Amino acid sequence: LNFGEYFLRRAYQFKDKPAFINAATHEVYTFGELLQDSMNVAVSLTHIGVRKGNVVAICTESRKEFWSAVIGTVCTGAVLSPVNPGYTAGELKHILGIAEPNYVFCSPSFYEKQEKTLRSLTFLKKIIVFGDKCPSDVLLYRDLVLPISGDAKSGIIVTNRLTRDVRYEEFTVADVCGGSDALFILYSSGTTGLPKGVMLTHLNVLTSCSLPSAVDPNTMGLIITPWYHTMGLVGTFNSLVLGRSLVYLSKFELDLYLRTIERYKISHLNIVPPVLVAACKSEAQYDLSSVQLIYSGGAPLQNDTLSIVKTKFPNIIAVTQGYGMTETTLAVVRTLFQNAKQGKAGSVGLVTPGTVAKVVDIETRKPVGPNVHGELCFKGPLIMKGYIGKDKTDDFDDEGFFKTGDIGYYDDDKYFFIVDRLKELIKYKAFQVPPAEIEALLLQHEAVQDAGVVGLKHKESGEVPLAFVVKRPGKTVTEKEIQAFVAERLSNPKHLRGGVRFVTAIPKNPSGKILRKELRKMASKAAS
Ligand code: ATP
Ligand code: MG
Repeated sequence: LNFGEYFLRRAYQFKDKPAFINAATHEVYTFGELLQDSMNVAVSLTHIGVRKGNVVAICTESRKEFWSAVIGTVCTGAVLSPVNPGYTAGELKHILGIAEPNYVFCSPSFYEKQEKTLRSLTFLKKIIVFGDKCPSDVLLYRDLVLPISGDAKSGIIVTNRLTRDVRYEEFTVADVCGGSDALFILYSSGTTGLPKGVMLTHLNVLTSCSLPSAVDPNTMGLIITPWYHTMGLVGTFNSLVLGRSLVYLSKFELDLYLRTIERYKISHLNIVPPVLVAACKSEAQYDLSSVQLIYSGGAPLQNDTLSIVKTKFPNIIAVTQGYGMTETTLAVVRTLFQNAKQGKAGSVGLVTPGTVAKVVDIETRKPVGPNVHGELCFKGPLIMKGYIGKDKTDDFDDEGFFKTGDIGYYDDDKYFFIVDRLKELIKYKAFQVPPAEIEALLLQHEAVQDAGVVGLKHKESGEVPLAFVVKRPGKTVTEKEIQAFVAERLSNPKHLRGGVRFVTAIPKNPSGKILRKELRKMASKAAS
């Protein structure tokens, strides 16, 4: 089955309902309008030569046209590849060089900023801009959404529009692809190195959209994660196929976010940890009593979150978590909203139905039992096809399990816990020290607002743990006190032998992941 076809069928079913509502303008975009625009875009793209085997990139801030461009593209059989519009010219060149798209949709501001880079890419055949004006060799989305007739040569400015829209009953998607064909090429966040191009298939996304969801389609959803990331992209599709209306922010602003929760009486929040922290700290007075459940993902959540959240969201029942990565489509381990009360503090939940998990010893690669740390590995219909241009054998084991690079364990009830990333483990003598464990402890110190831990190179021991600490305003604490605090509570290899450095901020990405590569730079700078 082609995901585009499946989506159109769902959209047709809900055609009178709002699909998207702009939080700032309250403009409504219905499923019917989305359906119509997507079909028109698909016909126009086919007309200008977009085919199976092509890659179409999209670089824009959140705007409603994003979705018709995405669905229109996938209905042609081409692969869609959304890219962070905030990349610098150098980053953009690297990213677009991975999948080598032939077509790119972009917002006017992105086009203005990156025109030179885009024009230097020889694999790019056509640029399409969401706007009113463009140079003569660039296309306007506006013209694509009004379908064309006649035999215009591919790549020539579209003329001869049809006098009517394409009709759903007559529309057929390219049936040449589906199943294990690539649908999206997404990029990992680039937390540990350069972002990798992840190929997700029609089956991956269809599976994700058909998993049980406890979210009531009659409640309004609110989406704030960026649409170029799987949490925004596939997460949104998960809601839309249920006919759930979504309010979106074209740009994240805390005040608008809280105001939107109040106005639309949002009951379930999907969130990343930094947004939750910012919401709890905000002084703004909004009525947030509609919120009952909060679901967090993408980065570790502190254990005592529920008690902090209660002060801001008086009717909160539970804060739950999920664990996943770009390579696993969305969460492969999660606590569903409906089971939120049975969730365990600190756990990311249970493995989703249809996915097989194993935890293996990092040395012997043999599966380990409950409560033993090891690398998390997954197999099933949510796992990516592979990285683009990379041999599968590096990232999948002999049994076909994807090796996540994350260390974790499951308890006797099969609830999973994330410990840290394999790559980030500090190698102190023969021990492997997870920095995230030390960070979680430091956050419990009353004078510590934030903390990040890395390994500092050390002659005899290999590496020793070093902590960067942001002090709470008005609090004083010394290096010695922090070292003693850790030494009293954690085993010997985890003691802060590399010392403690006080800083004003810990470098993080927008979803709250600590950029330890930046911390390592800070550590080596200070050491030299
Ligand atoms: P890159 O692979 O390019 O270095 P990245 O791994 O950060 O970047 P993503 O695919 O966006 O890119 O993030 C997936 C990672 O996020 C997981 O491998 C895991 O380390 C982390 N993660 C996701 N959910 C959680 C969670 N609930 N708790 C802790 N960590 C999480
Ligand atoms: Mg990763």
